[in-house]
Amino acid sequence: MHSDIQEILYSEEEIQAKIKELGEIISSDYEGRNPLVICVLKGAFVFMADLVKRITVPLELDFMAVSSYGQSTKSSGIVKIVKDLDVSVEGRHILIVEDIIDSGLTLSYLIDVLERRNALSISVVALFHKPARKVVELEADYLGYALPDEFVVGYGLDYAEKYRNLPFIGVLKPAIYTR
Ligand code: 5GP
Ligand code: MG
Ligand code: MG
Repeated sequence: MHSDIQEILYSEEEIQAKIKELGEIISSDYEGRNPLVICVLKGAFVFMADLVKRITVPLELDFMAVSSYGQSTKSSGIVKIVKDLDVSVEGRHILIVEDIIDSGLTLSYLIDVLERRNALSISVVALFHKPARKVVELEADYLGYALPDEFVVGYGLDYAEKYRNLPFIGVLKPAIYTR
């Protein structure tokens, strides 16, 4: 599987160090509040699991699945809720956990949906972002590492549902998705 990877961008250790940092900031910001932490499936599931272990305030969590990419490597801009939340967000402090912000289209759609459902506050934490590809002006409250304009896999992120289990984030050899 590693032979499909052209380059490792952030190692397992670097990722864990960043998550520890993010967890500390989030814990202090949410002191006295009881956030509902929402994992955007599937990509963010690995990040979610590691991040919540670093958050020290009492929290609840839920999962939401959206699809925008299909088998392609670019966002269609059309977001579909594949699995909705189990609990109500009304009057709750929401922390959305995303794997990566690329165009920002998925997240801006999600924020819109949760705002219309009367969340009390909505913040976003994303482990990765690609500054070069930003389409929507969107301020994530907590951001991890910036990535170059390349298609990445690993640490939850897939190509055609594969590579999610890699513990690092890396660039897939273009030959894998152009063939
Ligand atoms: P956006 O709507 O911001 O363009 O991207 C939405 C979703 O597409 C991200 O949350 C992520 O799940 C997926 N995505 C964006 N860039 C990449 C990438 O480089 N690799 C993979 N595997 N998924 C990506
Ligand atoms: Mg995602
Ligand atoms: Mg995907």
